[in-house]
Amino acid sequence: MRRAFVAGNWKMNGSRASAAALAESIVAQVKEFDRVDVALCPSYVFLADVKQAMGATKVRLGAQDLSLQSAGAYTGEISAAMLNEYQCGCVIIGHSERRAYHGETNEQVAKKMVVASEAGLLPIVCVGETLEERESGRTETVIAEQLDVLLDTAATLAALQTSVVAYEPVWAIGTGKTATPEQAQQVHQFIRARIAEKNAELAAGIRLLYGGSVKPGNATELFGMSDIDGGLIGGASLQAEDFTSICRSAQA
Ligand code: PEP
Repeated sequence: MRRAFVAGNWKMNGSRASAAALAESIVAQVKEFDRVDVALCPSYVFLADVKQAMGATKVRLGAQDLSLQSAGAYTGEISAAMLNEYQCGCVIIGHSERRAYHGETNEQVAKKMVVASEAGLLPIVCVGETLEERESGRTETVIAEQLDVLLDTAATLAALQTSVVAYEPVWAIGTGKTATPEQAQQVHQFIRARIAEKNAELAAGIRLLYGGSVKPGNATELFGMSDIDGGLIGGASLQAEDFTSICRSAQA
């Protein structure tokens, strides 16, 4: 039985004060949910404030990216060890915004997953197709390409054992257009089957999250699909009530 997982990706939003207040409110509201793992991923510069505001809780603190490098002359980069200093429990890797605006490749995403996993962070690895790719019938080809590098070597397979994969159709992120539960389930099923070709046990156990305009009004239906184990939430994670309601759907 896979345990539900819901992570909030706050992106480049908020202030030190608002991020701390949001974390405090969410932690208080989700504390009775014992069947769902919850993570909050604020901007790097709010990690300390958010950690402090979270207090003693099972809710994980997460980052939105990390460097491939461990230290050195890499201006603007943040290493896994630095995230560990803030007691981060997880890190989002390969978000479509990193792929689109920072040119992250599938190979870099796979390496970052290994770096994160070896540092004891739980990687939340994002995959997903653009609208153009979907409309030209290439969804599975694109997802397979993004996935295959994660299944390629002993190191990536070991890292994947400690990861979750988030299917985030790019056309559904921040657009208000959600994949239907059936569309999402179809891709989740494809992802699980692709992983199963390499390692059936890993495929059965790995948590697959859906992301893309998840809201309180559609979360229950999405999470009700057999291969959807939770969500990666953008916009709706910035409102404590909405995020909590989504976590409640995962708990149910
Ligand atoms: C995201 O950016 O990971 C995301 C899913 O965003 P939204 O929920 O706003 O579509």
